[in-house]
Amino acid sequence: MDTTTATYIRDLFLEPDAQLEAALQRAAAAGLRSIQVPPELGRLLGMLVRASGARRVLEIGTLAGYSAIHLARALPADGRLISLEIDQRHAQVARENLAHAGLADRAEIRVGAALDLLPTLSADPPFDLAFVDADKEPYPAYFEWCMRLVRPGGMIIVDNVLSRYGIIHPQSGDTESQAIAAVNQAAAHDPRLDAIILPVRDGRDGVLIAVIRTEPKAAP
Ligand code: SAH
Ligand code: MG
Repeated sequence: MDTTTATYIRDLFLEPDAQLEAALQRAAAAGLRSIQVPPELGRLLGMLVRASGARRVLEIGTLAGYSAIHLARALPADGRLISLEIDQRHAQVARENLAHAGLADRAEIRVGAALDLLPTLSADPPFDLAFVDADKEPYPAYFEWCMRLVRPGGMIIVDNVLSRYGIIHPQSGDTESQAIAAVNQAAAHDPRLDAIILPVRDGRDGVLIAVIRTEPKAAP
């Protein structure tokens, strides 16, 4: 259910978008869960790609390609999004959505477990920006892979970093919360990073934005 705040922001900034709406309809028709980023976070992803001048973007967790459309649209014509997805059916719907959005030339979906696919990217040119939004238990490993695959000065964005109450009140102790909390800790304390969490969904969830420094942090 939309909150008043989210509705205010969406009404003010987000115009109707036929391609994104069609993408969500195709996802629903194929029986995919509606767990894509909220539209305001989609807008932010596109803005960060554009503002950072990213040309090579990595996504972990495609679903129906909703966030991929936001990311790929913000790329220059010769830019490239590589999105990793474990579920062949999700990938199929996402490919259709990206094609209908006119982005098939710059967005590629690779099917497999992200931890199997990430090592195959090591030999490629580095990425400018990575967006992590897949299964939560490997989040620390995904984050470490992004630290390797994204260039200095590049950006790592991680979704759902406050998604469980257990992250802030860790007595619940489930393994997903622990994994997410570990990424938040790592990002907060890594001297190679400037990082912050922005609350989304009125604070019920959050997105981590980390920029890899080109020079180490000066001692305070
Ligand atoms: N980024 C999407 C939402 C992704 S939902 C959006 O905002 O539109 C998470 C996706 O991660 C699901 O499609 C799920 O199938 C995929 N996933 C789960 N485990 C995975 C794994 N080990 N490797 C790659 N993808 C995985
Ligand atoms: Mg998410």
